[in-house]
Amino acid sequence: MSRALNLRNARLPRWLLKALGMAHGTALVSIVVEQGRITRITPGSALGLDAGSASTWDLQGALVLPTMVDAHLHLDKAFTLERVGAVKPGLLGAVEAIEGDRAHWTAADVRRRASQGLEWAYAAGVTHARSHCDWWEPGVVPTAWGVLQELAQDWSGRVRLERVSLMSLQRYEERSVAMRLAAQVAASGAGAVLGGFVHSTNWSPQALRHLLEAAQKHGLSVDLHMDEELNPAAQGLATTTDLLKALRFEGRVVCGHTCALAAQPPAQALQTLDRVAQVPITLVTLPVTNLLLQDARTGCTPRQRGLTLVKEARARGIPVLVASDNVQDPFCPLGSFDPLEALTTGVAAAQLTPAFDDWSDSVCRSDWLAAVPGALPLQPGAVADLVIFPRANVTGFPSRSQDRVVLRAGRISHGQPEPAWLAPRLEGRAA
Ligand SMILES: [Zn+2]
Repeated sequence: MSRALNLRNARLPRWLLKALGMAHGTALVSIVVEQGRITRITPGSALGLDAGSASTWDLQGALVLPTMVDAHLHLDKAFTLERVGAVKPGLLGAVEAIEGDRAHWTAADVRRRASQGLEWAYAAGVTHARSHCDWWEPGVVPTAWGVLQELAQDWSGRVRLERVSLMSLQRYEERSVAMRLAAQVAASGAGAVLGGFVHSTNWSPQALRHLLEAAQKHGLSVDLHMDEELNPAAQGLATTTDLLKALRFEGRVVCGHTCALAAQPPAQALQTLDRVAQVPITLVTLPVTNLLLQDARTGCTPRQRGLTLVKEARARGIPVLVASDNVQDPFCPLGSFDPLEALTTGVAAAQLTPAFDDWSDSVCRSDWLAAVPGALPLQPGAVADLVIFPRANVTGFPSRSQDRVVLRAGRISHGQPEPAWLAPRLEGRAA
């Protein structure tokens, strides 16, 4: 049995302290970990356990978060940019480039690249990852789908990996085909989510209805690339809200991107968000790829940011997550499978301050992907999965957040405690 661990003087974010019911003004807490679970969180630095029976780390105010979720990845495409070479600017140029690379996508190739992505995510402190997987050829289940399923099993207990069937909305045009596709996705086992790419270039309200009906019938959650464009006429999100109401949809629908909201007249966009707040939709914003792919024209500096209305969404109680999206593929040369890299970009692009206290939940609330959100991470009774940041501070976070000590079920999986945390304290000796 592992020795209990007492984490004193941990600085939790304000959103978490509030959710834990800690009194306003609480800054530092003690977290007690026993047998891999958090058993107590108390304000102040009081010893939660007898000093003799537990290891004690005095974190001296170091920032602590729950382990993270990366809600929107493309593990099947990751690390392909090196062999693809030059790519035309914008989303559709990237789509063309990835189509040319697919000839290389053997099971071994996808496994090698996706595994590298998962290794990086694991080291960053991710415990829940959701990856989209291209289904581009009608009637053919892509090789990568099976590989991601195998990787989900290989990584079970370390990273929970979900996979989303990413296909053009047009594939759902026929109701019977939509039902067959959903049955196929559902039959492929746990962690499967029904996906689609919804864009003004393939727009069909009928196909969207069939997609949602098929998900409902087969008990699948839905995750859509939604209105990833700055065309104010894009109406995927608004139509989804109407359909979810009409269908009395009970699962969760995650809508990634929704960039078009930022291009619409404010009154229209806010009215759509008012409707989103009434249905089970979670928004995921992808700041790095949106900045790189939206308003992209050769020889021109972009004027628009391409991000959805994150603050307005949050003000309406809509769950908003920040995620990495593409990493080192034709869509995005950057990336490290670290959700905090995406958050750093989001902080600057969407002015998400104070980031630690108010916006770090956007990379921690994995329950926002669930049909019924609400299982708060890092609370008494929860598995002791947490990340400690020895060098970051509240004001500058996520700057200096690269150094991390990651605890999974109360055991160190990455990093080492600082020597100063382990120094014996006077009050400890007196006890
Ligand atoms: Zn994506």
